[in-house]
Amino acid sequence: MSLNLPTPAVALAIGAHPDDVEFGCGATLAKWSAAGAVVHHLICTDGAKGSWDPSTDPAALVVTRQAEQRAAAAALGATGQCVFLGWVDGELDSGVRQRWEVAYWIRRLQPTVVLGHDPWKRYRLHPDHRHAGLLAVEGIVAARDPHFFPEQALPHHRPEALLLFEADEPDHIEDVGGYADAKLAALHAHTSQLLSTMGIDASADDAERQRAAFDERTLDGLADHGRLESVAQGEAFKLISDL
Ligand SMILES: [Zn+2]
Repeated sequence: MSLNLPTPAVALAIGAHPDDVEFGCGATLAKWSAAGAVVHHLICTDGAKGSWDPSTDPAALVVTRQAEQRAAAAALGATGQCVFLGWVDGELDSGVRQRWEVAYWIRRLQPTVVLGHDPWKRYRLHPDHRHAGLLAVEGIVAARDPHFFPEQALPHHRPEALLLFEADEPDHIEDVGGYADAKLAALHAHTSQLLSTMGIDASADDAERQRAAFDERTLDGLADHGRLESVAQGEAFKLISDL
């Protein structure tokens, strides 16, 4: 188990949907932003299926979720871009077309560290999370080698490290003491997801109690991860530094 990478100059976090990055590594991104890193978000799908309400207009939800993602990034202190690839929610593939796009953004944004879903997490149900994880891994391979996608006309780029969140076998902890509030604020910024992913019914009489319970579960998760490396609050990852 290792603790804390050096603060990267540039970090690129790749998520399947708006909100995945905040759940997976929000506190780490807040810590790095505060230390001067430029933090970018790359969101693979349009998030159009992120509602339990059959009357929700999917096109309107896409627009809402992009705004929420930008607000969440701001809550983390991130000063980089929020890039939306716009693949259909629930139907993300990790084929050559998608890999082309991820490699393009890695070459363009030149991240020191890339963060993404662990595509090898066992018993994972949601295909978008698995494919987004594969795209982070395979996008790096394409971005680092000059003979992949030469029509991009961008210099090839090899990041120094890949951190996989939701890791099947975590072996690296980022100490995020002091950044739990930023993570919570960023998660709350995904207002359209309060009910479906955070269990908060904002119209309920006890909405405040539900919100407090969600915050407590999130803080418990940071404490559980921190315990792996004897820090009060942590986010756990699989670290791949041989890129
Ligand atoms: Zn997701």
